[in-house]
Amino acid sequence: MWDDEDHTDFSFSVSFKGPAEIERERAVELSKKRPSLLRPEDVFDVVDAGLELQIFIPEAIRLIESGCYIDFVDPYKDAYSILDAHAAYFSKNPSQKKRYEKLKLWRKNRGNCISPKTGRARKSYSSEACANDAVRCMADSYGQQVAVQCDFCGEWHLTPASRHTPSKICGYCTDGDGNSKQLYFSREGAMKRAKIIANERGLHLELYRCPHEDGWHLTKG
Ligand SMILES: [Zn+2]
Ligand SMILES: [Zn+2]
Repeated sequence: MWDDEDHTDFSFSVSFKGPAEIERERAVELSKKRPSLLRPEDVFDVVDAGLELQIFIPEAIRLIESGCYIDFVDPYKDAYSILDAHAAYFSKNPSQKKRYEKLKLWRKNRGNCISPKTGRARKSYSSEACANDAVRCMADSYGQQVAVQCDFCGEWHLTPASRHTPSKICGYCTDGDGNSKQLYFSREGAMKRAKIIANERGLHLELYRCPHEDGWHLTKG
């Protein structure tokens, strides 16, 4: 005959561990390791457990940026829901917050990137390598193109080399409408863009050095 009371007492006090406790212990062990040695889903398990966030959140963001596949076991969890739970960390770490906000914007815009010139969806490539393959295929029929990562959708588009003026969004300066300004990496690039705009829109723009970052802006003067 089964001795219910005795058995229950014994197993709970000595050996029983619930799944949550086992999961917690596993996350604690993982958090002691170097994140670059872990599988991507393990890095997110450590973040999910709220451990070593100063080390593991930047690594988690880097994993999303790299576009690598992350195999979540729990269907209700993904990289974004796990990071969204750490608002307190992000409010204290503005540079990581900025990185993460950009990834969320890209996720929202992916596949909806419209060319201002044609009004149609731009052809997108998910990685620089894919975009560079396309560059090689098209060189003969379309002339030299350059693969550029898009600030709006995070994917890669091709642009004719003659129009390519390397730039990014300035983290400080805004135009008259409050939109962030484009920061050109070189004076030559900014001048080339000013010429394209003058030819296509008849607008005369002046260039000036950004007072905050290393690069150049265009202004109506
Ligand atoms: Zn785009
Ligand atoms: Zn600026």
